[in-house]
This record gives sequence, structure tokens and C-alpha cells, in this order.
Amino acid sequence: MKNTTITEIINLWDKVLSIVSEQFDKQLYDAFFKNTKIDSINGDKINVLCDSELTKTVLEEKYLPFLESTVNKITGSNYHIAFYTSKDEIVYTPKNDLSTSSQFFKRNIIDPNYNFDNFVVGPFNNEAHKASLIVASNPGTFYQTLFIYGGSGLGKTHLLNSIGNYIKENNPTKKVLICSSQDFINEYLEFVSTDSRKELLTKFLRKFDVFLIDDIQMLKDKRKTQEFFFQIYEEFRQSGKQVVLTSDKLPGDLDGIDTRLITRFTSGLSVPICQPDVDTCVEILKKKIVASGFELENYDPQVFALLANAFKDSIRSLEGALIRLNFFASLNRIQYINLEVTEQALEGMFDSKAAKEKISERKILEAVASYYGISVSQIIGKIKTANIAFARHLAIYLIRTLLDTPYKKIGETFAGRDHSTVMHSVEKIQKLVDNDTQIRNIVNDVKSRISSK
Ligand code: ADP
Ligand code: MG
Repeated sequence: MKNTTITEIINLWDKVLSIVSEQFDKQLYDAFFKNTKIDSINGDKINVLCDSELTKTVLEEKYLPFLESTVNKITGSNYHIAFYTSKDEIVYTPKNDLSTSSQFFKRNIIDPNYNFDNFVVGPFNNEAHKASLIVASNPGTFYQTLFIYGGSGLGKTHLLNSIGNYIKENNPTKKVLICSSQDFINEYLEFVSTDSRKELLTKFLRKFDVFLIDDIQMLKDKRKTQEFFFQIYEEFRQSGKQVVLTSDKLPGDLDGIDTRLITRFTSGLSVPICQPDVDTCVEILKKKIVASGFELENYDPQVFALLANAFKDSIRSLEGALIRLNFFASLNRIQYINLEVTEQALEGMFDSKAAKEKISERKILEAVASYYGISVSQIIGKIKTANIAFARHLAIYLIRTLLDTPYKKIGETFAGRDHSTVMHSVEKIQKLVDNDTQIRNIVNDVKSRISSK
């Protein structure tokens, strides 16, 4: 949880406190819990600040296991809690010897929770994954600059840390520095007030063989920091070292960034992470469930489809939804998680009607496709052979009559066909159903396949 933001920390502790307040009586809560807060998170250690020695002792001796298991249920991780009062000095356990033993980049550790093993690969991130793996196993060799770009919550930071962990494990003599661009800016501002400080920072950075820098778009308009970064980056390039950058945009689309940098980024290897597909999202959900110690059998498979459809724009929010769902289920002691529980747990977080429609639409498409031995993409596509065209009319008819989906929306699913084409399909099949027993039987057959799916 290296990238834990202040808001995430506050949210986490708010959630913990709300569970505590429900479980214990108010006086106890007010006396020992209410005035606690997370001071910081250091690797897998959460430092909780208490308002007195007494609170600290009580929490340590009586409530530590409860609080730790609550935190770990919420986060799906394995954190330990240490209690402090303002008089104590918080001990930070160093993880990455080089960066932490120095005065620079103290907070920058490679997140041990992000590795290639728990990174699910699908069509949308395949290229980025491959390139990262190549770079991690041959740092500085094939692609000295790797530039990974993609929208928020799609796995850039996860990949960057995976590269770091892989190198640490397989190539331990290589020194890896990972930092967010914001950290880089902060370090620069903090230490370059004098030339000698700047020299020290430069020297420190030179010791590394691999430089992993996250969210480079954040250097926007930071002219001085960019200049300094450029100098370091050039040194890395010239000494055959590895640099990996992530960004929310393609190098050429970055604004407020020095063209010299953009040219260098462009001449390296750039790989995208695109919009995830539903199937990979389902796989990610399953992996996260297993990793957090929950049982897949306790979920109605439709829950995965519902979540994947509703949250596929960001894996971060997909994960957030799952955490909230699991939290809701354990709080209410619900064993089996079905669609209803999911809707209750995530109330207000997504348009469940729209998401459900999508699943049902998918079921209809799949049922018709399997009935005719063709694929869903053939049904929604443009090929006009008689068999496929008929299956298409039928799927459109079923979506309209079973789900009452507007013609225009159906048209969007079917390769952008217009309103009148869709209407024509519905009318055509309706007429056949009214007059032709054989067609009526086919329709009923497909319908029963849909409901048994
Ligand atoms: P970004 O940096 O692109 O905004 P992150 O790397 O922080 O996104 O990913 C957000 C969350 O989604 C993280 O918890 C990460 O573990 C998870 N995640 C993203 N992509 C994958 C994936 N392919 N497999 C498993 N988890 C993923
Ligand atoms: Mg990120």
C-alpha cells in the first residue's frame, strides 16, 4: 500500500471505527477508540496514534487482534498495527536498504503486494505486461526506456512495482529506485535549495541501476524539476541503465513537458493499457477473492458478471466494490453472496439496472449463438449470410421483448444499426412467431435456454 493517500488512510480508519462503534458500547468506544487515528502506513505496518498511555495499553492488550482482523478484512491485506502516543517516536522499519538508509526518498519502497504473479493478463494489458516482463528480466538491455500509458486505475502502478520486485528477486545486485513523480518533485524542492544539496541528490540517484517513475504527467509545468529529471535521465541512458515511466497519456499527448523529454520518451518503447474487457475483470475479481482468503463458492457467479460490467472502467473501483461487498457480507454475517446482497452492499455505487440489463443481454446473445452454433461477435457483427442474419433478428427480437430495451440502445449493441433496422427485425420475427409454429417452437426453445443459463 505504498501509494496510500491521506484520504485512503482516513477512509480506512473511519471504516474501522464505524465497525468498532457498532460492536462495542458507546462509553467504551468514546473512551478508547474515538480519538485514535492512523499516523502513517509503513510497508505492512499501520501506526496508530492514541491520545494517552492508558488508551495505548488498553488497545494493545485487549483489542489488537480485533483491530488487525478488521483492518485486514477491509483491505484484504495482512497489516500489523502498532500503537503510539505523541510522546513516542514512530519507528519506521526500512524495507529498501539503499533508499531508506539515505536522507533521500525515504518513503520509497517497492510495494511487495504488487507482483507479476497477481497481475491478471488480458487483451487490454497484454502488451504492457509483456514489455514489463522483458524489461524486468533484462534491465537496461532491450528497451532502455519503457513508457507505459493508460487511464487511471488500470494497473500502471501495479506493473511498475512488479518490475521492481522481479528485479529485486532475480537480480539482487541491481539497485532499484521507485518513486512517484510527485515524490520526485518533493525531493527536488526539498533538497535543491543549495547547490551542494543538489549534488548530493544527484550522487544518490546515480547509485541506482533501475529507475521506475510513476505518473510522469505530474511533472507538467514543473520546469526546474523537469530540467533536473532530464539531467538524471540522460545519465541513466548514457550508462545503459533502465528507466521505466508510467503516464496517463501517450508521450506525444503530454502537455507542459519539455519537448526534449518527450522526444526521448517517444524513441523508447511505449505500450498502452487499454480499457479492460469483462472476462478479464471477472478473472481479476476471482483472483482477489482467493487472495483475500474468501471462498469462490460463496458467490453467485452472476455477481462477478454484475461487478465486472458495472466497474470495468477502472480496476481500482472494481476492487473497491469487491472490498465493500465483502465487508458488508462479513458485517452482516452473510454466507452466500448473491445479486441481491451485492445490490444492497453497493447501493448508490452503480446503476444496477443498467448492469443487469447488460448481463441479461449477454445471456440472450450467448443462448442464440449457441443455438445456431455461431459466435456472439458474428451475431452482433455485420456478416449477412442467411443463418447469421436470422439469428441476429431473433436476438434483437428477444432483447426487445424480454428486456424492453429501447431500439436505439439495441442498435448500439449491434454494430451501430439504426433504430428502424432494429424495429424491422423485431417486427419480422413477431410476424413469424404469430404465424409459424416451427418458429414459435424455436423461440420458446431459445427462451428456455436463456432462463436455464
Ligand atoms: P493505475 O496506477 O493505473 O492508476 P493501479 O496499478 O494502482 O492503477 O491499479 C489499481 C488497482 O487495481 C490495484 O490495486 C491493482 O492491484 C489492481 N489491478 C490493476 N490491474 C490489475 C491486473 N491486471 N490484475 C490484478 N490486479 C490489477
Ligand atoms: Mg498509479
